[in-house]
Formats: sequence, structure tokens, C-alpha cells
Amino acid sequence: MRNKIVAGNWKMNNDANKTEALLEKLKKHNFNNDVKVMVSPSFTNLQKSVINLSDSKIEVIAQNMNESEKGAYTGEVSPSMIKSIGVSRVIIGHSERRAYYNENDQVLKKKINNALKNQIEIIFCFGEQISDRRSRKEFEIVKNQLSNTLLKIKESDWSNIILAYEPIWAIGTGENATAEQAQEMHFFVRNWLKSNFGTKISEMVPILYGGSVKPDNASEIFSQPDVDGGLIGGASLIIDDFIEIINSF
Ligand code: PEP
Repeated sequence: MRNKIVAGNWKMNNDANKTEALLEKLKKHNFNNDVKVMVSPSFTNLQKSVINLSDSKIEVIAQNMNESEKGAYTGEVSPSMIKSIGVSRVIIGHSERRAYYNENDQVLKKKINNALKNQIEIIFCFGEQISDRRSRKEFEIVKNQLSNTLLKIKESDWSNIILAYEPIWAIGTGENATAEQAQEMHFFVRNWLKSNFGTKISEMVPILYGGSVKPDNASEIFSQPDVDGGLIGGASLIIDDFIEIINSF
């Protein structure tokens, strides 16, 4: 039985006061014990959020991490810095990082390896552009994104990896993938896992869907057999919507 997971990515939103206010509202809520809830505040709010949620089951995760251990990389954050404040999971490969910060497969592979080496778990995002889907290349694109970054992962590391299918055309656009489109791609990804790493790993790894998940479409998307939850952007900033999405399982 795979974990059900709902993770909110707050991106570059919410100052310290707003972050605290959202967390106060969120932690008052009694969620279904079966669902693992995660939030990803900005770096400036990360440590305070860990302290604030220390008496809660909600996990605080990081939005990014550098591919190197340490050194002269002005403005960057290393795995040991993240770990030292009590955060042990990071989002890697978000389409905004790929698009705006030129994070290609080689960089992402280094980030993945650096995280795992430092006992930091990852949520790895991937997904196609609308032009890829229009030319029916979505499976080829996703397969390449996975193969270029994850093919050499050690079997024992797979328990520290969550995958997140995020079609770029659905992120922040209000146009979600249909439940069928999500299931079709998640099934494809599970088969990719199965053919490269075997049945046990393919059945174990959670695959989240991300892209305009809202309270009114979450339960249909989450009810698909290969969809294990969601990575939520915009709707996670509206705490009542986020709670409704978490309760959609
Ligand atoms: C995201 O940025 O990962 C995301 C899924 O955003 P949204 O929910 O706003 O589409």
C-alpha cells in the first residue's frame, strides 16, 4: 500500500507573517491519518516553519537545493544547510527551475545524487510542454526526463524518492490534465519503473500529479489507481482550498 501524499509548494509567496498565519490555520486541522501532508515555504521561512510544526505531523520541505556540497556559490543553499535546520526532503526538477534557471537533466542528476548522498529525500518533478503533447511526444519526453536522471539510481535509494508528473501546460494555468490523462501517464511511469527496477520498486514509489489541482477536481484525479496524491501550487496558498484538497482522498 503506497502512501497518500499532498504537498503544497508555496514558491516565492508569503512573507514571515503570512507563512506563520497559514501554518497556524493548517495545523489546527485534523487530517485523515492516511494522508501525508507537506508544505514547502521559501528558504527564509523554512527554519521557523520547522519549529512551528514540531508538534504536528505536517512535514516541511525545501523548494530547491544546490548540486554541490559547499563553496563559492553566492545565494545558494547546500544539502547540509537544509539538513541542519531539520528539513529532510527537497523538490527537484520543478518546471520553473528548469525553465528560468536552466536546470537541465545533467544538473538535475547531480542534484538528485547530492540529495540522496546526504540522506535528503526528494520529490522529483517532470512533465511535457503543450507542444510535446500536441505532437504526441509526451511519453517520449517523460521517458527521456526519467532515463536521463534516474536510470542509475541504486535500488535502496528508491524508498527516498517520490515522483511528480507535472505537465507544464497545466501548471498555474487553470487547465488541469483530465483524470484519464493523469492516470495514463502515471501508468506509463509505473511501467518505466517496472521495466528498469522491477515490480517491487514500481509498486512502492509514490507518483503525484501536479497542475491546477483544485478542490473541485482533486477527488477525481486522486481516485485514479496510479495517482498517489498531488503537488499543489496556487491552491495551496488558499488554506481552505488546500485543506479541501487534502480531504479529497
Ligand atoms: C506547481 O507549481 O507545482 C503546480 C502544480 O502549480 P499549480 O497547482 O498552481 O498548477
